[in-house]
Amino acid sequence: MSPTTRQTMAQMLTGQWRSAKDLAAALLITPAEVEQHLVHLARSHQQKLRQRPAACRACGFQFTSRRRLDAPGRCPRCKAQRVAGPWFSLEP
Ligand SMILES: [Zn+2]
Repeated sequence: MSPTTRQTMAQMLTGQWRSAKDLAAALLITPAEVEQHLVHLARSHQQKLRQRPAACRACGFQFTSRRRLDAPGRCPRCKAQRVAGPWFSLEP
């Protein structure tokens, strides 16, 4: 039996930082689906989900107050659409 998308995502994240975009591209799912899986992974207490906030590549703005887990579209400070992250990892 092949592992589910969520199991594959958990394997990708264990001990490694991955951005929401990387996960969507690697698993061939939408950013919204990535967010749903991350929410479930964060709730399961088998492994602790760590997060690093998204950041603007243009001005360095950090999305530290953002509650959602998907990637922001544009920077609220400089309006550039060059946002990196957010990144996630599961503690091994
Ligand atoms: Zn910016």
